[in-house]
Amino acid sequence: MYDIKLQGITKKFDAFTAVNDINFTIPKSSVTVLLGPSGCGKTTLMRMIAGLENPTEGRILFDDHDVTDVSTRRRNIGMVFQYPVIYRGTSVRKNLELPLLSEKLSKAEMDKRVDEVAEILGLQDVLKRQVEELDNGTRQKIAVGREVARQPKIILFDEPITNIDLTSKLELKRSLKELFGRLKQTIVYVTHDQTEAMTLADQIALMQDGVITQCDSPKEIYENPNSQFAGWFLGNPGMNFVPPQFINVSGSKITSPLFSQTIDFGSKAASADTFGVRAEGINVSTTETKGGVQARVTRKSIGAGGQYLLDLAVGSLLIKARVSHSIGRTAKDAVWTSIESENITFFDKSGKAL
Ligand code: ATP
Repeated sequence: MYDIKLQGITKKFDAFTAVNDINFTIPKSSVTVLLGPSGCGKTTLMRMIAGLENPTEGRILFDDHDVTDVSTRRRNIGMVFQYPVIYRGTSVRKNLELPLLSEKLSKAEMDKRVDEVAEILGLQDVLKRQVEELDNGTRQKIAVGREVARQPKIILFDEPITNIDLTSKLELKRSLKELFGRLKQTIVYVTHDQTEAMTLADQIALMQDGVITQCDSPKEIYENPNSQFAGWFLGNPGMNFVPPQFINVSGSKITSPLFSQTIDFGSKAASADTFGVRAEGINVSTTETKGGVQARVTRKSIGAGGQYLLDLAVGSLLIKARVSHSIGRTAKDAVWTSIESENITFFDKSGKAL
């Protein structure tokens, strides 16, 4: 399989720079998700990897083979788009077979490949059905299966779940997760949906304004965002940010009315402007605790796994805490909060993690 090396990749549309000097290697045989808000340049970057768009500057290498000027057709890649690309008026099996015809495979090899992808994607029972009879999610599975069966070295997915109806979305996401676990190909997957990225990625390349701002495993990027942007964009809800008026710095020591301990942050303390804490990093007690900070519950909602999300007001500051079912159920107007130092990330004025 190939890794994909992006060397100084820039794409300009007239005076507008959509992708700005990206230097990045997408490792082979892994799932890399390009994640970011609308307009950050993810699709443009993917289209350049596919050869559908030429970079204004820079080179693209598959392993050590420079493909910058190689046509899409000759790059040996598979592509799955937002809307399923399928042949109407034919069966699911025919749809999966058609792209294999040009590969000049034996009938036995062709059947093997079709049956394999059908099994992974849960399409065995509909192989004889006409594609028109099937829902959008199943059609997208067929589109995925068609690309996978060809066994290209790289497969690109451009928001394949975005336009699938809600009922089929979860099932399709589950199938893709199962598929990616079994594929050896290099997968590049574009989405603006952080939950999708967290579920499917081996590594997330987070993009903002045409650049990759952080690339790490989902766990690492969630737990150790390198910027306020990453802390905010990953997670549902995103990280809480506590502004400068709640932080006191004296030499290397940082205190805050939000936490009872003093944090020694060494020489970096002077740059600490804001701190971030995840909703699950806030301890909540329904009885008064020593050193705890009193907060008012302004809203309660029950979420995944029976956990509660509490909207809390600490004076003028609004924060969100994720708590167990028992705490959430019994939390009334007043609760007491505390934050352990290991759950705190400090950021400087520019939003960079310290
Ligand atoms: P979305 O999720 O909304 O598709 P994206 O992160 O994939 O967003 P791109 O589609 O790559 O973003 O677009 C990046 C920027 O480049 C956007 O501001 C877009 O308007 C601009 N852009 C993309 N293609 C063109 C084009 N052909 N001509 C001019 N501007 C373009």
